[in-house]
Amino acid sequence: MTSPTLADRYGRVATDLRVSLTDRCNLRCAYCMPPEGLPWLPTPDVLSDEEVGRLIEIAVTRLGVTEVRFTGGEPLLRPGLADIVARAAALSPRPSLSLTTNAIGLDRRAAELRAAGLDRVNVSLDTLSPERFAQITHRKRHADVIAGLVAAAEAGLGPIKINSVLIRGINDDEAVPLLRFALEHGYQQRFIEQMPLDAGHIWSRSQMVTADEILASLEGAFTLLADPDERGGAPAETWLVAGYPGTPKVGVIASVTRPFCRDCDRTRLTADGQVRNCLFAREESDLRALLRGGGSDEELAARWQAAMWGKLPGHGINEPAFLQPSRPMSAIGG
Ligand code: SAM
Repeated sequence: MTSPTLADRYGRVATDLRVSLTDRCNLRCAYCMPPEGLPWLPTPDVLSDEEVGRLIEIAVTRLGVTEVRFTGGEPLLRPGLADIVARAAALSPRPSLSLTTNAIGLDRRAAELRAAGLDRVNVSLDTLSPERFAQITHRKRHADVIAGLVAAAEAGLGPIKINSVLIRGINDDEAVPLLRFALEHGYQQRFIEQMPLDAGHIWSRSQMVTADEILASLEGAFTLLADPDERGGAPAETWLVAGYPGTPKVGVIASVTRPFCRDCDRTRLTADGQVRNCLFAREESDLRALLRGGGSDEELAARWQAAMWGKLPGHGINEPAFLQPSRPMSAIGG
């Protein structure tokens, strides 16, 4: 008998679990959250460390999940983060464990998280300019992010990937400097197309900086070569940057103009215990109610499987009937 998996009816199997640990954030990136913040999830609705740990255990030991990425909101704001990581690291088979973070405060936490079992981090950084950083995020924390990056490297949380969103008229001239910065420091640079997931619903296709534009900028300054490695379910399409030691790569996550839904291997758990089978799903499956109602591990696993079975073939962003999900990126877990 084969073991159960998180399969869908289109032949995809989810092995990569994104766990949102909070919907709160200490930045207010213009494409994500309004300057005044959002109504946060009420504390009783948020899964406890114990509840998150149990659901991760079910995903890994019963449903074939091999990779767990902690996100949010800002996951470093979750007091129990190191304990949650340690519990996941003790599972057998041990999943790979990573964190998507803005790195604010990581300078003080990197060694502790590494010791708890965290394997690596993805750090979001849209600009090399402290002034632009304040303009984009509404917070003067650029130096904290750089300190976090340095600490992550020192703690061995690599390979470190930098995720950048380019915004027209603000930082769309930074593709080349950001890649140079990453190459100099041994980070892997990735650019993300802006997606219709902002709380204010102000995303517009014409304002989005596209993969083609990003690649055109990069090709003006670097020689990019096809990456011979299998892409698999990875959201980033990658290229080798010629002429630099160690065959570094640069990636573009082009969810809008080059969708990769056919190979998607992701499943998502929100901070309030809802399974989402897609970033853009309009429906969720409530694991929290079942868990708090005394559901068994078998029942929780079965509900998770049913949620994934209903995954649509694509996110539909490019279809006329597309409707943005009601929850913004910060509440889903990016
Ligand atoms: N706070 C953490 C961080 O900054 O990485 C984790 C959560 S954040 C939502 C994850 C990633 O989503 C960040 O790299 C952020 O830039 C990206 N993001 C947020 N809103 C986005 C949008 N509308 N389109 C594309 N990327 C977005």
